[in-house]
Amino acid sequence: GKIIFSGIQPTGVPHLGNYLGALRQWVKLQDEGHPKDRRFYSIVDLHAITVPQDPQLLVQRTRETYASLIAIGLDPNKSVIFAQQDVLEHTQLMWILSCHASMGYLGRMTQWKSKAGMADNADPLETSAPNKPALKLGLFSYPVLQAADILLYNATHVPVGEDQAQHLEFTRELGNSINHLYAKPSGPSRVPFKGFFLPQTIHSPAKRIMSLQDPTKKMSKSDPDERSRILITDSRDEINLKIKHALTDSVPGVSYDRDSRPGVSNLIDIMYYMDESKYGSPEEIAADMFGKDFSLKVLKEQVATTVADGLEPIRERYNEQMARSLEDVDAEMGRGASMAKGTAAMNLQRLKAAMGIRQHK
Ligand code: ATP
Ligand code: MG
Repeated sequence: GKIIFSGIQPTGVPHLGNYLGALRQWVKLQDEGHPKDRRFYSIVDLHAITVPQDPQLLVQRTRETYASLIAIGLDPNKSVIFAQQDVLEHTQLMWILSCHASMGYLGRMTQWKSKAGMADNADPLETSAPNKPALKLGLFSYPVLQAADILLYNATHVPVGEDQAQHLEFTRELGNSINHLYAKPSGPSRVPFKGFFLPQTIHSPAKRIMSLQDPTKKMSKSDPDERSRILITDSRDEINLKIKHALTDSVPGVSYDRDSRPGVSNLIDIMYYMDESKYGSPEEIAADMFGKDFSLKVLKEQVATTVADGLEPIRERYNEQMARSLEDVDAEMGRGASMAKGTAAMNLQRLKAAMGIRQHK
């Protein structure tokens, strides 16, 4: 069976990019997987604090993220759903991996640069840029914690959006160097470290949904402009309004071309991926349903209706989830955490023993 790991930051209610690019795949792997598959889905709160967070808001958003995961169809009886911070082994393994991670490789990652507002060719040690706060170690080493999240469960498959492809490549490289140093197929130890699987990245077909306000950037929870994203809990009115104001272009008619018409094509993509079984391809939607004689206004109305219809059941289940008592949700998350911890502690223990880090009873 597969061992699946993925995570989402509690930095806000998930948006259409998270949903179409990653979360829907999580549900598919749960409902259509092999009975022997194991799934670990984590709310990665320790990743969220790599950029400033308001403590109260972080508590609220963790709760909203959990409610969202249940609302989209994840089931705590079929998937292990837990908060990263509840399983302390994540940070333990991160330290061990940090001792093997290359600064040069981390320096080439693009995510810390965009989150720190730095240029693509920025040098991490050059922190003297005027008006820029110094780059924080945690933001720079974020991929090491992410590698720890994945390797801790010995994951074989990781369903994520395209923006995470680079971090997954880094995870495999790091896992591979640990394997070379410490893995032994068998040996005197009762708990041999046989090495990590080098996890495969799974991208859903909608691997990159763009911002409604700037279609050259990906849709993102931490974009300060709320109109740049559609939350999976947005009302029909909010969806209509955000899509109506989406940035497009002044080319007449509807056509699909991601390079020359990124805004329009992003809307068509959204419509297509909301219900792939209904339409042949984004190109077909553009040519057959619309075409040159249709205004972008008509396209936008149709996209908004498709999205609002598709999200309606999720919105309803989300509201039910948010109405549960805190005790009830905490207990459920606690059960998820102890299941995760069972696997995590055993895997970590094996690696530590192979490295000569003994537990003193
Ligand atoms: P933040 O801006 O705080 O980083 P985010 O929107 O990038 O938030 P994450 O929690 O970092 O969301 O990512 C959760 C999952 O959603 C990841 O698998 C990521 O690759 C995927 N994802 C995020 N944005 C998009 C997008 N615009 N299109 C497709 N997938 C996305
Ligand atoms: Mg992100």
